[in-house]
Parts: sequence; C-alpha cells; structure tokens
Amino acid sequence: QPNPAVRTRFAPSPTGFLHLGGARTALFSWAFARHFGGSFVLRIEDTDVERSTPEAVDAIFAGMRWLDLMPDETPVFQMARHARHREVIAQMLEAGTAYYCYSTPAEVEAMRELARAEGRKPRYDGTWRPEPGKTLPPVPADREPVVRFRNPLDGDTTWNDLVKGPISIGNAELDDLVIARTGGVPTYNFCVVVDDWDMRITHVIRGDDHVNNTPRQINILRALGATVPEYGHLPMILGPDGDKLSKRHGAVSVMQYDEQGYLPEAMINYLARLGWSHGDDELFSRAQFVEWFDPSHLSRSAAQWDPKKLNWVNAQY
Ligand code: GLU
Repeated sequence: QPNPAVRTRFAPSPTGFLHLGGARTALFSWAFARHFGGSFVLRIEDTDVERSTPEAVDAIFAGMRWLDLMPDETPVFQMARHARHREVIAQMLEAGTAYYCYSTPAEVEAMRELARAEGRKPRYDGTWRPEPGKTLPPVPADREPVVRFRNPLDGDTTWNDLVKGPISIGNAELDDLVIARTGGVPTYNFCVVVDDWDMRITHVIRGDDHVNNTPRQINILRALGATVPEYGHLPMILGPDGDKLSKRHGAVSVMQYDEQGYLPEAMINYLARLGWSHGDDELFSRAQFVEWFDPSHLSRSAAQWDPKKLNWVNAQY
C-alpha cells in the first residue's frame, strides 16, 4: 500500500565514476521509494576533500541521468552542512552524550595494543569518558581534543535488516566513536547520521560494506532522540572470477556502457536482476519492477557480474 512518508536516499562519495555497484544501490533505493509512492533523494558525500572532485559529481549525475534515476529533490551536498553537524556536536557535548577526549593518537594506539595483547577487542579505554562520581584527569594545556560519542557499554544493538534479516551487535564491541577530529571537524559516520535524520530518511539502502557502521549510527540516532530508519544492506557484486567487481574486470563506469551503445533500459533490467529475481521473468518494464520490488526478496549472497547475460538482455531491446 502506498506510503508517501517513505524517503530513501542515494549517498555517493564523489571520488570517481558512477560504477555498477553504485548504480545498483541507486536503482534499489529509487525502486523502493517508487514502490511506496515516496521520495528518492540524493546526497553527495563530499566531506573527503582530498578525494572528492567536481568531475566525479558530474559523472555521478551523468550516470543517474542516463539510467533515469534522478532524485525527486534538489541534491544535498554534505560539505555545505558542516555548520549543522558542528551544531549537533555542541548539543551532544552539552547533553553529555559526547565528550572531549584529550588522549593523543599514540596513547590511543597503546590502549588498542594493550587490549589486543590481553585478547580483548581493540578499544578506547575510556580515560576521558565521564561517569558519575569519576574524576577526569586534568586537561592538558597544549592539546586539542577530539570529540567522542558516549556509546552504551551494555546490551545489544539490534535491527531487522531489510535484506539480511535480524542483526545484533554487542555494544561492548563498539568503540566510543570519534565524531569530531581535532579542530572540530565532524567525521564521516557522524555526518551520515545527522544528514539521514535531517533529511527524514525512513529507509537506508546501501552496500554491505557499511554494515559495521550501522550499529554505531543507530546508537548515535538514539542518543539524539531521533527516529531510527530501517536499513537494508545489499551484498556486493563479484566479478566473473569471484573477486570483488573492479576495473580489472573491465567494469569501470556505467557511462562506458552508454558509449558502447548499450541501452539504459537493458542496464536497468540487468542491474535489477543482479541480486533480485521475480520468478522466471527475464525481462520486465520499469513499472513492473517498481510494482514487484520488495527488498526482502533480494538475495543475501553476493551477485556475480556476467557480461554475457548483459549482452543477452541488451539484445532483447
Ligand atoms: N558515501 C558512502 C559511499 O559512497 C555511502 C554511505 C551510505 O550510504 O551511508 O560508500
């Protein structure tokens, strides 16, 4: 049944072309929003200033335009939201859900070494973490702090993944995440949390290389009193040899397929079938795909890229 409150997003980092994996993530996010009559939005995650380029932003738009997966709203550029990210960090410091940490990188490394040597998970040892009745060390005069999230120590963080089913992670496994570096620069995971919250994202559909970030992001959202979205993590695409799909397999950017004369509808069809099946239907229209789409029917295991299959699909159009 339609639910116009559904909002999904595609959040690429503009560090290169729109590659096949990214295009598939965009397609599934788009289809999910369309299926419910909701909105599909785009966030360009350009906070990694060393690696982000305007050319990559253009290339992502070009790929999305070619596949006709354009967002319903003006794209959001993450970098432009840093004032807001800093504001939320200040609020968390005020509320005690985050704290200044003056441990040096060398000290943190030593804590991790010690934990490893004792057979524990490498973890920040909580030196600067405020606790009731605890006296914190004197603030060193010559040091700039980072800001850490005060992660819960007990219990589990659990979510019902739209693709993978129930997932549960012990909070003791999660570190007190750095949410601002020295100089107050917000970190990547933190920006994602604030942006998903402010953009009222209801369903986060992304690659499963982000699955380890999810419990951390959920805990921060809870600390902010925000509604936690649902998450669906797509298994990666493998090359014909079983390794993660990469340039080596000749799969660079979706636009190379445009240059080679492939049709966007064939690419959509093929990408849709990578990790999803609808009975024996080999070919279907965009409208049918949207109507049938259900992320719980996505495969939980990695999909394999098969150029012959793509050629076959393309020949049918
Ligand atoms: N910017 C991330 C990437 O390109 C995606 C983050 C997310 O979807 O939460 O891998």
